Amino acid sequence: MSDIIIGIDLGTTNSEVAVVQAGRPHIIEVDGAEILPSVVGLADDGTLLVGRSARNQYALYPDRTVRSVKRRMGEDVRLPMGDQDYTPQEISALILRRLKKAAEDYLGQPVAKAVITVPAYFSDAQRQATREAGGLADLDVVRIINEPTAAALAYEVDHKEPKNILVYDLGGGTFDVSVVRLSQDVTEVLASHGNNHLGGDDFDAKLVEHVTTHLKEQAGIDPSDDRSAMARIVRACETAKITLSDAPFSRIEEEYLLEKDGEPVHLSLELERIEYEDMITGYIDETLEAAHTALKGAGLAATDIREILLVGGATRTPLIRQRLERELGMQPRSELDPDLCVAAGAAIQAAVISGQQVARVLVDVTPYTFGTSAWAELNGEPYPYTFIPLIRKNTPIPVTKSEAFDTMHDGQRAIEVQIYQGEDPDALNNTKIGSFRIEGLSDVPAGNVIVTTFALDVNGILNVTSREKRTGLEKQITIDNATARFEQQELEAARKRLSVLTEDEPQDEDAPSERRETVQAQALIEKAERLMENANAEDKEDLVNLVEAVRDALADGDADATERAVTELSDLIYYLES
Ligand code: AMP
Repeated sequence: MSDIIIGIDLGTTNSEVAVVQAGRPHIIEVDGAEILPSVVGLADDGTLLVGRSARNQYALYPDRTVRSVKRRMGEDVRLPMGDQDYTPQEISALILRRLKKAAEDYLGQPVAKAVITVPAYFSDAQRQATREAGGLADLDVVRIINEPTAAALAYEVDHKEPKNILVYDLGGGTFDVSVVRLSQDVTEVLASHGNNHLGGDDFDAKLVEHVTTHLKEQAGIDPSDDRSAMARIVRACETAKITLSDAPFSRIEEEYLLEKDGEPVHLSLELERIEYEDMITGYIDETLEAAHTALKGAGLAATDIREILLVGGATRTPLIRQRLERELGMQPRSELDPDLCVAAGAAIQAAVISGQQVARVLVDVTPYTFGTSAWAELNGEPYPYTFIPLIRKNTPIPVTKSEAFDTMHDGQRAIEVQIYQGEDPDALNNTKIGSFRIEGLSDVPAGNVIVTTFALDVNGILNVTSREKRTGLEKQITIDNATARFEQQELEAARKRLSVLTEDEPQDEDAPSERRETVQAQALIEKAERLMENANAEDKEDLVNLVEAVRDALADGDADATERAVTELSDLIYYLES
């Protein structure tokens, strides 16, 4: 064990250190966290600060704090910190020294060697500066590897057959997209593109701008000149941004933020994911253009890409995943922690160099997608059973995700929440695993917001809660064994779908949309029959008549009549459920 080699992701915003033990990469904690902010500073009394404490003082004492040193690597500059100035290598060495010490404490033995990752576009001078930083920290840098290559190693993308992958890396302050070709023993970065000054910090800045405008308009005060208020706002905005990755709303509360005419000014502001997404959409467009440029640089088309890997904390933003999926036609992989997979890949490379065996990186992920249904566009048409996925297949568990839904009708007092598992955009083609009804909603116009939350734990227990936002009225259901129970159910659902098909459309195998309509009509009939049990005589009669109309139209094979009857029946059902 004496020749242990550690793997280091020396990032612009954050750094991580990892080591392979018992065949698996392990991220080593530094100061109780897996992520060390790449910030170095001097405290009031001249004490050296590295990591969180340095980051926390940045807003107040920028003249004795250095951040984003990675951007200056390879430049012949000196960076002031307190009374002295330092080369970028020296500042980086302080970060590396901290990581090395954490590894030694964890392993209980000295560490002298490291593999360090760098962006694919780093020049020779930048790579050389990284090596020198290692030397200053008493680390022999046995190999420098490209970050996208490290990500591919961590994901252990199976490359018995050569294939091309796209690594999309959006961190705090930098964005890189690389096209990587994997073949049996060689990993080659074919093209790389990006923006050295684009990242999650820019998303924070948009929110800060929004909050500043709010304070100016609502409280008549501009916080821009108050450093400590701005530091609090920046931190609160980052927290709100992170919340919006999992929930449709986030509230920023900062009491006693400022003073105006001797009176305290409190900040209390709710943010909606949709408005936040509007703020950052321009940045995301830019990253997608960069992805196309990288593809072009590699001489490839989107269809030549077999997998997309997500790296960097900011890729947890749902809009990024959605846009990538839409743009490149495949769901990006994100089973591994996007903050940690580069360090894990560096550790794997280190283990390979020192002759250790490495096994798969194991994470608990959900093998299924879970979601609900709602009126939304499907194939360009409004459709009542559009599948709205909340927890995507391959998401690491435990996980909690929320979405907001609006009531459809004025005075709608109840909604039926359906829970499905599956991948089909039409919920009726997925497996229904539960449902519940939330009643007693406020008597308000349409658009009453209901927040539905899916929480899936490591044991596969799915908890679904729906909550009326304005009152907090909520109802929930727990589905045990959500990740294990499907095989049987899936078989049954498939059988049912098939039986409908063979009954109604024996001769036309190539009409998926008609098939879908038939399945949909069948499901509506089942639903109507359930409703009949508790309906009053008048409603029951209407239901019976419309169900008959749907059945007749189906039997006649009259697509137009089916559509008309289905529309009428679904309208009635919605009316009855409201
Ligand atoms: P990295 O440099 O890869 O560590 O990424 C850091 C960036 O990711 C920062 O801007 C973080 O605010 C951002 N980030 C971390 N977690 C999330 C999240 N859940 N949703 C959105 N951004 C996040």
